[in-house]
Amino acid sequence: MRVCVYPGSFDPVTNGHADIVKRSAKLFDKVIVAVGNNSAKNYSFSIEERLKLLEIALKEYDNVEIVPFNGLLVNFMRQKNAYTIVKGLRAISDYEYELQMALLNKYQSPEIETLFMMSDINYSYLSSSAVKEIARNGGRIEGLVPDSIKDSIYEKFAL
Ligand code: ADP
Repeated sequence: MRVCVYPGSFDPVTNGHADIVKRSAKLFDKVIVAVGNNSAKNYSFSIEERLKLLEIALKEYDNVEIVPFNGLLVNFMRQKNAYTIVKGLRAISDYEYELQMALLNKYQSPEIETLFMMSDINYSYLSSSAVKEIARNGGRIEGLVPDSIKDSIYEKFAL
């Protein structure tokens, strides 16, 4: 069985993330969306909220599993018997960080490969932080996040 792991914060999930999941779900038998819960990071949405929003946004896929993780990604992957990491690459800004992560993961576990998928042209400049900034200020997030979670995002930032 071909299994890949798509790791991230998903704080919250955007259409850019959903597009990477959709494309990965066609290429792999199973996609594990690994939702980071790192105590050094300040998330806007709790781990429970981030998992719930992903469950709602990705409910149409029967080969996608959504799982929280902390610690080293390579350890999580070993537990899951997965050897492929999928990452989305937006405009050049992602490249340097993702290159570092891919090389360090390879150093930890040479049997693990990182595959990069270019962001869809419509989502190349889309980020969770931009979505939050817009929602916080009452702007338009239609088309930037899955319709099914749009209201939950507005509610989060309602005064
Ligand atoms: P992190 O905290 O690791 O940056 P994110 O949730 O922001 O987590 O992103 C997780 C993954 O999704 C990363 O590989 C990132 O490059 C990718 N990603 C984020 N936004 C987009 C987008 N708009 N299009 C394609 N890939 C994206």
